[in-house]
Amino acid sequence: MKNPNIVILGAGYGGIMTAVKLQKSLGANDANVTLVNKHSYHYQTTWLHENAAGTLHHDRTRIQIKDVVNTSKINFVQDSVTAIKPDQKKVLLENGELSYDYLVIGLGFEAATFGIPGLKEHAFTIGSINSARLIRQHIEYNFAKYNNEADKKQERLNIVVGGAGFTGIEFVGELANRVPELCKEYDVPRENVRIINVEAAPTALPGFDPELVEYAMNSLEGRGVEFKIGAMIKEVTADKLVFEKDEQREEIPTNTVVWAAGVRGNSIVEEAGFESNRGRTPVSDELRPKGYDDVFIVGDCALLFNEETERPYPPTAQIAIQQAEHTAENLTKLVKGNGHLEPFKPDLKGTVASLGHNDAIGVVFDDKKLFGWSATAMKKVIDNRYLLKLGGPGLLMKKGKLNFFF
Ligand code: FAD
Ligand code: NAD
Repeated sequence: MKNPNIVILGAGYGGIMTAVKLQKSLGANDANVTLVNKHSYHYQTTWLHENAAGTLHHDRTRIQIKDVVNTSKINFVQDSVTAIKPDQKKVLLENGELSYDYLVIGLGFEAATFGIPGLKEHAFTIGSINSARLIRQHIEYNFAKYNNEADKKQERLNIVVGGAGFTGIEFVGELANRVPELCKEYDVPRENVRIINVEAAPTALPGFDPELVEYAMNSLEGRGVEFKIGAMIKEVTADKLVFEKDEQREEIPTNTVVWAAGVRGNSIVEEAGFESNRGRTPVSDELRPKGYDDVFIVGDCALLFNEETERPYPPTAQIAIQQAEHTAENLTKLVKGNGHLEPFKPDLKGTVASLGHNDAIGVVFDDKKLFGWSATAMKKVIDNRYLLKLGGPGLLMKKGKLNFFF
């Protein structure tokens, strides 16, 4: 009997961890495993806000796939997926196609823009190395341009971030540290620069511990971040952002809007015809979409309900990694023909968010609150643990955040 073809789409947290686990659990005579990814590298999405602000170089964030995936065991194809045809068990790529017996989809997230006029055309998003690098360069260009124009344009120095969820908050935290450096470099007075975070809900970080939210806002406001809370973004143009607060429309002149106000699953998955709920595909507790027992979905494309809260689990790296490990175990059982598939249950260890490189907040081990130095150190422990899991001590030494005092 021929070896089954396992095809993994995307080398984000979900895809690459599935591949790394399968290369350990399956032998060459068990299955042919193929990993497809747009780029030759995996990037840690959870560090992209640092690359976008310019506080960390993007080469620290990306890891060459061949450095963690054994390409003599796993066939790596650098290409872009254009469509999935589940009824034909095929995947179409920009430069070819692949047939599968088992498919693992880990194509990640894209920005949810909710049809807001001008967002797609004029706002930036933090979603890849390319998009983060573009934000960094755009901000620097505007600082450089400011003193080269006779009529100094305030919109060059107003940086507006849409959404005060974890992405928005982590990004303004980095900007608060980066802006003073940019001011020095480009001879711009700090008081001329505004970092404005616009959030529609009645609070920043809706649903998170209120004491920690207050701590975060004090830390960020202390470093010059302005918050517009209860302010719904309505429109973005090339030189302004429009929001509505208390039934009043207000405008902020700006050339730089970074949209961090929501994500959805990669639209390729929805277009494949799987059921979709706000861009994510509902999956069973074995992480399979209804009607397709040969397809597994891991990470941000999957929608899994938490029966205790009766709400979906949030799209996080933490869950994507656990789903990948679980899927690799289940696939190994399927291929080797030993036993039933196990249901997936996330082991949630908490949430820690940075507020720049020297401050953070978090809740871990159910209800232990962390802030300041201890939260910053915990965030580095989480990041380093992932690198150790993915590529062992060598990768940790090369890419890890090993200085716990800064
Ligand atoms: P991704 O990590 O998005 O990876 C998808 C992969 O698929 C990428 O490699 C991409 O290049 C590839 N791909 C996409 N389309 C195609 C295509 N058409 N063809 C081929 N390849 C393709 N979560 C946490 O748990 N903790 C955090 O601290 C945290 N911080 C975050 C900070 C930021 C700034 C952001 C934006 C998110 C953060 N998250 C965090 C959320 C977390 O990053 C996501 O939940 C996680 O990245 C999802 O993993 P994934 O494997 O589903 O997809
Ligand atoms: P999110 O959906 O969690 O937050 C988006 C925010 O934007 C919300 O507060 C929402 O009220 C606001 N918003 C939506 N529409 C708006 C509008 N028109 N005007 C103004 N505000 C608007 O999205 P996110 O922050 O990108 O996070 C995505 C996922 O990634 C989440 O699951 C999050 O937990 C995870 N994440 C985790 C971390 C961490 O653990 N440190 C960091 C970043 C992201």
